[in-house]
Amino acid sequence: MKFPCPRCRRFYRVKTQGVAWEEGRPLNDGTWTSYKLFMGDLLECEGCGSQMILPARGPFAEHYQPDYEALKTAHAPIVRVDDCGGTWDPDRALQLQQANAEQGLQRISDSLDALRAAADAAGFDITRPGHD
Ligand SMILES: [Zn+2]
Repeated sequence: MKFPCPRCRRFYRVKTQGVAWEEGRPLNDGTWTSYKLFMGDLLECEGCGSQMILPARGPFAEHYQPDYEALKTAHAPIVRVDDCGGTWDPDRALQLQQANAEQGLQRISDSLDALRAAADAAGFDITRPGHD
């Protein structure tokens, strides 16, 4: 699978295979702590230097496991992501798709209005059929 960088019109390339990374979880006091450990591949756009981690399927350790800290030390995660959400939401995607479609229809309608106004200004009646 290829991942395009829209900024550079280039593909991300694998920089490091098999990196560990950690997902954090928020505590009630607003700080964050360990939650899950994952593996993944670190990708980088050679154009702009933007990086992303392509996650492996599931976590290989979770915070409640007694060996979590040992696994964390052994795998040395390159980053902890302290962020809730961000999962792909099909309802949100559908809402965006509908909003885009409505904007597209509005643009077409605006273009027709502009065309009618231009035709009126030039003395043409575009509402009348051409062949009668
Ligand atoms: Zn880029």
